[in-house]
Formats: sequence, structure tokens, C-alpha cells
Amino acid sequence: MKLALIDRCPLCQSTDIDLFKKGTVIPEKISAEDFKITDSHYGSRWTFFFCRDCGFVFANPAPAQGAIEQFYMALADEEYSQENEGRGRNFSTILKRLRPFAPPGSLLLDVGAASGIFLDLARQAGYRVSGIEPSKALVADAEKLYGLKLFCGTVEQYTVSEKFAAITLLDVLEHVADPGSLIATLNKFLAPGGMLVIVTPDIGSLTARIMGGRWWHYRVAHIHFFNHGSLSRLLEKNGFEIVMCKRFAWNFSLYYILTRLLPCCKGPALQKPLKKLHCKLQFFDSWELYARKKES
Ligand SMILES: [Zn+2]
Repeated sequence: MKLALIDRCPLCQSTDIDLFKKGTVIPEKISAEDFKITDSHYGSRWTFFFCRDCGFVFANPAPAQGAIEQFYMALADEEYSQENEGRGRNFSTILKRLRPFAPPGSLLLDVGAASGIFLDLARQAGYRVSGIEPSKALVADAEKLYGLKLFCGTVEQYTVSEKFAAITLLDVLEHVADPGSLIATLNKFLAPGGMLVIVTPDIGSLTARIMGGRWWHYRVAHIHFFNHGSLSRLLEKNGFEIVMCKRFAWNFSLYYILTRLLPCCKGPALQKPLKKLHCKLQFFDSWELYARKKES
């Protein structure tokens, strides 16, 4: 895998950067498997640097943009769709919170739509939906599971004539090579006053600090992290104002949680009973942020 050494903060260009945490990944051993959404190798991380000026935390050296995109194009994740119910519960809360800012009936774009769980719910709630997803396998799943036709590719390749009332980036920002250019591009897709919803891990959270290198958001696919300061700065720089900031709660079946902790428990015997039991996990370590595009 091609890696690039970084000498300044990718977000604010400051050269005042320093080591944040030493990594555990071996770049030569990384494969598309490590980029699965359900990857259970928690604690495996890049060497991270942080920016003294804006607080951004980023992999350094970082995997090259082209390399990451290729992994996502090749990604197939059979386990992801198996947790549809829990993920659906998380996403319903987002739709409820979005409603006063972008009512049902308006146009909504989900970036990194995976197998379309969120878009299916948004459509049921009355939104006119579009989605972008680089993985061919996940695009095929979305069509098979929900009859959704997602755009297979990247945001840079996407073209659209209408402007959106809302764009959602749910657990996507920490995966992309250049979050600054992503937010700038998405701004162009939004109508004035349009909403951007971001869910992303919070490196400044108490949970992240207590867990240190064992924090569950450390995984190969997460190549940088935000805290409240760096996220606000990124949004303000790109013409957004934050209107609401919440803590995202995860909803998982007991089967999912158990098999993350003890992979040896995977199998049909426990799958049926434990999939019916759901629990909400709130670690206060992910942002669920609502930002409005400023009228210019
Ligand atoms: Zn910075």
C-alpha cells in the first residue's frame, strides 16, 4: 500500500504538528478486508499526528487517496446488512431531528450510503432520496434489498442538476482521504439554507481519552479524527453554521455485540435469539451534528 508522509495539517495547513499516538498497523499487510464496516479488529490503528492549531488528528504517514478508493470499490460486507434493524433504529432518530430543518418531501442525498438502510427509511418518511456509494457490492445490495438505485462511485464523479435540502454523512468523514475537499464539494450540492448531517467519532471525548489506544473507533478504515473544535472549524470554513450538536447513540443487537467481543460465538445457535434483543449504547464519543449552509 502506498503511503504519504505529511508535513502540515491537512485541515488548516499549520506546520505545528506533533505525534499523537504510535500506530499498530503493518501497512504491507492491509487488505480490503480491513476496510469492512463491520471489521472487528478494534484497536488496530495508524500512527496519528495532531495539529496544535486546530486539534485535527490524522494518520501520518497516510494511505494515498487512490489506494483507499480502490479498497472501497472492492468492498463487500455480508455482515453489515445483517444488523439492519439496529442501524435502522439509530437512523430513525436522525430523521426525527432533521425534520424541522428539512421536511419530508424535500430532496435528500446520503453519501457513503452502504446498502441503503438509511435511505430506505428516509424514503418511507417521505423524502425524495439519492445516494452515493463506491462499493459495487453494496450498491447491488441496496437494489436487491430496497429497490434503491445508488450512484456507484465517488462524490467527485457525481453530477446532479437539482440542489439538495439535506445531505447526510453518517460515519463517513473519518474514512475519506480529504475531508476538507469533501465538505467543499457537498456545499455545492446543497440549496442555500440546506442541511448537512454528520456522524463521526469524537477524539476529544472522555471515552476516547480513558480508553486510549483501545478505543473502538481505532481501526484501519479510520484515518483521521475530529474533536468539536476541528469539526466546527472545518464547517465554518466551508460556509456552514452548526445549528444542533448531539451525541450519537449506537443501537446493536446482543448478537452483534457478543460476536464483536468473542468472534468464536458466531453461528446460527445464538444468532436467532440474540438478534431479537437490542440495546442502545451511549458512550458520548460520537458527534451527531446538524449544520446549515449559510445563505450567501
Ligand atoms: Zn490544523
